[in-house]
Amino acid sequence: MELLTALGAADRDRPDAVTIDGRALDHEALLGAAGAVAARIAGAPAVAVHAAPVLETVVAVVAGLLAGVPVVPVPPDAGPAERRHILRDSGASLLLAAAPQEAEDLETIEVRAAERADFTGAEPAADSTALVLYTSGTTGAPKGVLVSRQAIAADLDALAAAWAWTAEDTLVHGLPLFHVHGLVLGVLGALRTGSRLVHTGRPTPAAYAAAGGTLYFGVPTVWSRVVREPSAAKELAAARLLVSGSAPLPAPVFRDLAALTGQRPVERYGMTETLITVSTRADGERRPGSVGLPVAGVTTRLVGEDGAPVPYDGATVGELQVGGPTLFAGYLGRPEATAAALTADGWFRTGDMAVVEPDGMHRIVGRASTDLIKSGGYRIGAGEVENALLDHPAVREAAVVGVPHDDLGQQIVAYVVAEGVDERELIDFVARHLSVHKRPRAIRFLDALPRNAMGKPQKKLLPPF
Ligand code: ATP
Ligand code: MG
Repeated sequence: MELLTALGAADRDRPDAVTIDGRALDHEALLGAAGAVAARIAGAPAVAVHAAPVLETVVAVVAGLLAGVPVVPVPPDAGPAERRHILRDSGASLLLAAAPQEAEDLETIEVRAAERADFTGAEPAADSTALVLYTSGTTGAPKGVLVSRQAIAADLDALAAAWAWTAEDTLVHGLPLFHVHGLVLGVLGALRTGSRLVHTGRPTPAAYAAAGGTLYFGVPTVWSRVVREPSAAKELAAARLLVSGSAPLPAPVFRDLAALTGQRPVERYGMTETLITVSTRADGERRPGSVGLPVAGVTTRLVGEDGAPVPYDGATVGELQVGGPTLFAGYLGRPEATAAALTADGWFRTGDMAVVEPDGMHRIVGRASTDLIKSGGYRIGAGEVENALLDHPAVREAAVVGVPHDDLGQQIVAYVVAEGVDERELIDFVARHLSVHKRPRAIRFLDALPRNAMGKPQKKLLPPF
């Protein structure tokens, strides 16, 4: 199979090529188990996969890729409404799972890691749909993103080059298997490069410490846990590369992780619609707060509110737009949403605001909808204020938003998780570190920030101020 070259060749002599939560398969066994399933799903319009962190999820996904049937991963802990939405919206006719599941009216096929069969279907077309990935739903109802085989191949090859990722690596992560990060990068990436994969079931510092990898993937909440419970310090110090993505890595976490492990993490930015588009390189500069350069083949541009290009001066904020071979093929069944997401000349509007330095390094300011605050004529990125709050030793988490204000348009307010500090002290602390117009006017203390399965802050779920 061209998409998963190393797996198709089944030429790696490793009994534990893929390990999930302690159970392992070699490449040949994985191909055999997937072949048995592929024969049963060939010709289906799409298959849903109950994407629990188990070996059978990988078998099911590879089966879909073998048979050329679009795979629709369903979060294992999705509530009934989200589950129904994904199963119905995707047009899947079968559900693949390791154990019986609530499946609406879909026929369920139980996947067995121990089965073996050869599958001899034709190689699916490069532009056919490999995956239908539902967005996180941070800003609205989750939309099904059509991801082609060639977009995945282009993305994985560009990242393998940027991170010098090869068959000699052992990739360790414990991320969910229904998003780009854990599934495309964290499973298909290992299968395409031929590296060993150890999925730890859950992304905890203790599990990472026990895994012994060369390459570790995490979302920022994973890295901030590693810094607070430093049990994995020794193993991570011995790794080749630590990678953070899916949400902004606060600069204080970057610095603490570097101090703990002696390694500056590589950061990457992307989204379901564009896969992974921008990343610092293994052999390049790793600057806190920066996601680096577009990967090979991807182009980006920054556009102002008037649609005109914004200068790359390290200060002017614009909307980040993306072009290139990793772009999605549209939102399933939503032609208007697809058209609205693309410019007339084919660039994808990310909805994220960014700044580009004169040397090309990209800094993500945040989402235009929730992270760009317009207050008193200033445009303030919530992330900068969040980082300043996180620099205070008592603050563990911070989310900054703009709320309507009669004179200022919006005023800055902050939600923090902190102990042993009061509102006045925190506001003064930020005022000492940032320009005065960037300080929060009020602070509310919470026990925890609302976050989704990827650890992304869900600002729309914050209590009203
Ligand atoms: P929805 O589109 O349904 O509202 P979502 O945008 O959270 O949900 P994803 O495609 O999973 O769904 O997430 C992509 C978004 O995550 C990006 O648009 C960006 O806002 C954020 N993001 C990803 N990586 C980074 C990063 N390294 N730094 C900052 N933000 C990031
Ligand atoms: Mg999005």
